[in-house]
Amino acid sequence: MVELENIEKRFGDHTVLDNVSLSVAEGSVMALVGPSGGGKSTLLRCINLLEIPTSGSVEIAGDRLEFRPGVRMGIKQIQLLRRHTGMVFQNFQLFPHRTVIENVTEGLTTVLKWPKDRARERAMTLLEKVGLAHKAEVWPSTLSGGQQQRVAIARALAPSPKVLLCDEPTSALDPELSGEVVDVLAQLAREGTTMVMATHDLRLASRIANEVIVLDAGVVVETGSSRDIFTNPKRERTKRFIATLT
Ligand code: ADP
Ligand code: MG
Repeated sequence: MVELENIEKRFGDHTVLDNVSLSVAEGSVMALVGPSGGGKSTLLRCINLLEIPTSGSVEIAGDRLEFRPGVRMGIKQIQLLRRHTGMVFQNFQLFPHRTVIENVTEGLTTVLKWPKDRARERAMTLLEKVGLAHKAEVWPSTLSGGQQQRVAIARALAPSPKVLLCDEPTSALDPELSGEVVDVLAQLAREGTTMVMATHDLRLASRIANEVIVLDAGVVVETGSSRDIFTNPKRERTKRFIATLT
């Protein structure tokens, strides 16, 4: 479903991603782990093309773009690929002046031009899925962090993306609130949602990831099944890093 080949991302002289390749099968969940500053967020942003790779190729659901230094990609092509993805951020990033249900319908009505009724129907289905149908008409600020993140997940899923990208989805939450977000993501994984997530949350990664990639200073230093990486890491540095996770 997602195929990255030789992704390089430079900011000026600083190489933030160095020749990263990865492949995520349909229905599979990949966790990106590794020290802060290792390039996890940048890699997610290269998958949804919020960041344009310096070189390399990105393929999602059979649509492939190849990037070369100095060659500009057309906005139409970028939008096509971007629409295959949904993104969940560490800090939820809900629209504060929209109700919960409006947060979920916004992209459907403005970007995809869905009629309001159809968008509301879709939003209610998703709010039910994340257990928040009863909060549809409230303001996001009245919700707990865990509830806000569940709304953000519903919003990301609204246009039926091929892949859900999550950047540290539980990092801003107290442990008791992160559990409800982990439960929702675990349910999505069981239902076959393809996901790529950056996380420091060992509980989240070991519970739902099939594959794990360790990114350190922009380089993939280890990759394997979640069981291999978490219980039997090959490299000393990975072992030390895993030991810091909670
Ligand atoms: P992680 O998510 O693993 O903590 P990031 O992808 O946020 O890592 O950052 C990787 C590196 O890229 C860091 O050194 C960061 O300073 C740098 N970086 C990220 N975004 C930019 C940017 N827009 N301009 C310059 N440097 C950036
Ligand atoms: Mg990050």
